[in-house]
Amino acid sequence: MTGGPARRLVLLGATGSIGTQTLAVISRYPDLAQVHGLAVGGSRPELVAEQVLAHRPERLVVSDPDRAEGVERAVTSACRTAGISAPRLESGQGAVAHLAGSLGEGDVVLNAVTGSVGLLPTLAALASGARLALANKESLVVGGELVTRAAAPGQILPVDSEHTAIAQALAGVRPEQVDRLVVTASGGPFRGRTRSQLEGVTPEQALTHPTWAMGPVITTNSATLVNKALEVIEACLQFDLPEDRVDVVVHPQSIVHSMATLVDGSTIAQASPPDMSHAIGWALAHPEKLPGLAAPLDFSTAQSWTFEPVDEDTFPAITVARAAHREGGGAMAAYNAANEEAVSAFLEGRLTFLGITELITSVLAHPLRPQATPSGGVEGVLAVEAWARAAARELIEGSGG
Ligand code: NDP
Ligand code: MG
Repeated sequence: MTGGPARRLVLLGATGSIGTQTLAVISRYPDLAQVHGLAVGGSRPELVAEQVLAHRPERLVVSDPDRAEGVERAVTSACRTAGISAPRLESGQGAVAHLAGSLGEGDVVLNAVTGSVGLLPTLAALASGARLALANKESLVVGGELVTRAAAPGQILPVDSEHTAIAQALAGVRPEQVDRLVVTASGGPFRGRTRSQLEGVTPEQALTHPTWAMGPVITTNSATLVNKALEVIEACLQFDLPEDRVDVVVHPQSIVHSMATLVDGSTIAQASPPDMSHAIGWALAHPEKLPGLAAPLDFSTAQSWTFEPVDEDTFPAITVARAAHREGGGAMAAYNAANEEAVSAFLEGRLTFLGITELITSVLAHPLRPQATPSGGVEGVLAVEAWARAAARELIEGSGG
C-alpha cells in the first residue's frame, strides 16, 4: 500500500469465521499483505486446500497432530493437480506459536483461533515485533498484564468490532481526555427473557445469533453475555482503564459498534452495518483506510437505533467478570477456562444454558483456587488455567448435566 514490498501475513485460525473473512479481504486488496503462513485446527482439509491454492502460503500448520495427515493429503493432491509446490507443513500446538513468532517488524500476525490456546501464539507474535491483529480476545483477557507488558505501544490492533470502534473514536484523543468507554452489545438471541425463560434453552437456539454469523463458541458466549464480559476486560486492557470506567449498553441493531465519552461530555460513536470485514480491514490497513471495504450506512430509508441497559440479574456474566478482573492474580484465566469447559459441555448436551454462568461462578468461588503472581509468568497463568479446567470438569460431571 505504501509502494514498498507487501508486508507478510501469518493467519492463525484461517478456516474459521474471522479467518475466512480475512482471506476474503486479502483477495480484494492483494497489495495489503502477502500470505506467508496459515494455521488451522485441521477439521476442514478441503477448505485448507482451497485456501492454499488461492493464497500460496509458504508455511502451513495444523494444530491437531491427528488431523495433519488428512490436511496434508488434501493439500498435496490439490497442489499436484494445480502444478504448484505445496507449503511446508508442520503440526502441533508448539508449531502454531512458532509460526506466530516467525515474522518481524513491518509484518502482521492475525490471531483468529478460538480460546485461550491463543495465548502462547499471541506472546510469540508480540515478541517478534510484528503487528498483532487480535481477534483472539481470550489471549489478552487471560494473559492480562503479561500480554499488555509484552506489547509495544500500538502493536496490538483489535479485530473485535467494539474495540476497533473505540480505537477509531479515540483517534486524536489524549488518554486524560477520556471519561468512559461504552461497549455496545446486541443482547444476543435471548434478550428480554427472564431467568425462568432461559431454562431448557437448547444449543440450537443459542447458536442462532440475531445480527452476526460467527464460530460456535463466540456465538454461545454472545447468548450468555460472556462474550461481552470478555470484551469489557479486553477494553480495560487494550485502552488502559479500570473496569468501572467501561460501561455496557444493549443496542440490538449492532450498528453503533461502541463509543467513547470524553471529559467535555461529548460521546463519539463509530457506526457501520454489522460486517466483520470492516474491523479486519481496519486492523490490517491502519493507519490507511481501504476504499470500499464495507458497505456504508444508508440513510435514505428510515431506521431507528435503540439503546437499553443490560439485565444483569438474568445475565450475570459481566458482573462476575468485573469482580474477577478487579481481583487479578489469574482470576480471569480461571473465568475463561471454566467458560470454555462449560460451553463445550453445553454444546454437547451435558450442561444447561444457565449452568454455564453458574459453573464460572462456582469455579471462581472454589476455596482451593490458585493465584497467578506477576513473577510466575505465563506458566503461572497456565497453571491456574489447568486447575480451573479440571475443577470445571469435575463440577460438570457432578452436576449430571
Ligand atoms: P471459529 O470457530 O469459526 O474458527 C476458529 C479457527 O481456529 C478455525 O480455523 C480452527 O480450525 C482454528 N483452530 C482451532 N483450534 C486451533 C488451534 N489449537 N490452533 C490453531 N488454530 C486452531 O472461530 P471465530 O472465527 O468465530 O472466532 C475466532 C476468534 O475471534 C475468537 O477468539 C472469537 O472470540 C474472535 N472474534 C470472532 C468474531 C466473529 O465474528 N466470528 C468477532 C470478534 C471476535 P478448524 O477449522 O480446523 O477447526
Ligand atoms: Mg465483539
